[in-house]
Amino acid sequence: MVKVIPIECKFGPISAWAYYIDAPEPALVDTGVASSAIGAIEPTLAEHGVKMEDIRWILLTHGHVDHLGGARAVWERTGQRAEIVIPKKDADLLRNRNTHITDYKQLQGKFVDPELHEKHISMMLNDISEDLEPTLEVVDGDQISLGGDVSITVVETPGHSIGSVTFVLDGLNWAFAADAVQMYGGERSGIPTIEYPTLYRKSVQHLLKVVRPKRLYLGHPFRNARDEVVIPQLEGDAVSAALQESLDMDARLAGIVKRHLSENQEKPANSDGLYGPFGSIAEEIGYTGDPRNLPCAFFVTMNGYQKELK
Ligand SMILES: [Zn+2]
Repeated sequence: MVKVIPIECKFGPISAWAYYIDAPEPALVDTGVASSAIGAIEPTLAEHGVKMEDIRWILLTHGHVDHLGGARAVWERTGQRAEIVIPKKDADLLRNRNTHITDYKQLQGKFVDPELHEKHISMMLNDISEDLEPTLEVVDGDQISLGGDVSITVVETPGHSIGSVTFVLDGLNWAFAADAVQMYGGERSGIPTIEYPTLYRKSVQHLLKVVRPKRLYLGHPFRNARDEVVIPQLEGDAVSAALQESLDMDARLAGIVKRHLSENQEKPANSDGLYGPFGSIAEEIGYTGDPRNLPCAFFVTMNGYQKELK
């Protein structure tokens, strides 16, 4: 049986998880932020007698900073030999750091005071390593051999980001979904980060009904329906429960956003409060986070559901 080593990449108060797959051609799924390569990935692998230079595949589930930030440093440690794999639709986020700034402005920056923009952008760029050219851009159905009889299939699961994929270990049906599944949201944010709700819903339904993974490896500790923080490596019944909870939370958010934004249609958006035009929604869902701290799941997700209404 293939061994998987979960690696917790801590930065500030946040944890992003990377996963080492012990195949004949070893793979690393996601890489944390820039400091994670030396700070978390190398020491965790060393505890298991694994050297970073043995990694042959760097498999990035999507283009967000806390998943691809460490890619460059890991790749350097492999003597620039590892293949770098990223979903085609998120590839620009690896190739060109400026894409993160464009995304930031479109997805959340417009709801934040302009004087915070520079601070947010420099924080973001600090967590990304230098631009890196992917060696393989993948789309739905692509299969990658990790040597011997170990292979993975790419399943497109967009919604959290436009390009998010799930890497599924063939035969075992273990799914590395990272952030494509958000349950009731992050440990601290308490709200899922969903850039494209319609796509997210379809992706989670596809995982639940069609892929039906035996194990689910997620990118962060997420909250469940009872507001407990769940360790992001799930198996058995916990897999379908997490997928169903993700759909339940999406349905709840879609309903609330629709009600509030249609009720308020006549009123000018209140852009003075901390939560911009979404103050009444924050109140109803009990969201008390500070959107001036990055990453702000709240604005990204509100922006997504608001666009879905149009
Ligand atoms: Zn993400």
